[in-house]
Amino acid sequence: MPRRKPRPRDRNSRSGSTPLGDVFGRTESGPDDESYIVRTVPGNRAVKIYRCPGCDHEIAPGVAHIVAWAFDGGGDDRRHWHSGCWNGRKTRRITRRWS
Ligand SMILES: [Zn+2]
Repeated sequence: MPRRKPRPRDRNSRSGSTPLGDVFGRTESGPDDESYIVRTVPGNRAVKIYRCPGCDHEIAPGVAHIVAWAFDGGGDDRRHWHSGCWNGRKTRRITRRWS
C-alpha cells in the first residue's frame, strides 16, 4: 500500500460536512483509467483562473467547472477542468485547440 502523508481531516473540518461522498464528491475514472475524485465547482466559488488540462485553455472566474484529482493522490494534484472537457476526456485523448 502506498503511504499517504498524514492528513488530519483538514478538508473535512473546513467544510464541516460528512466524510466521503458530499465532501469528496463522486468517483469517476479519469483520462488514464485511474479513479478520480470529481467535485463540481459552482460559478460563485470559481474565483481564480485555472488552466484546463483537457483543452489547454483557461477557465475564467465565475465559470462553473469541475475539479478532479487522482483517488490515490490525496488531493495534492488537483486539476480544474471545463465540465465539457472532463466529460469528453475519453473521446478527446489528445489535447486539441478548437480556436
Ligand atoms: Zn477545457
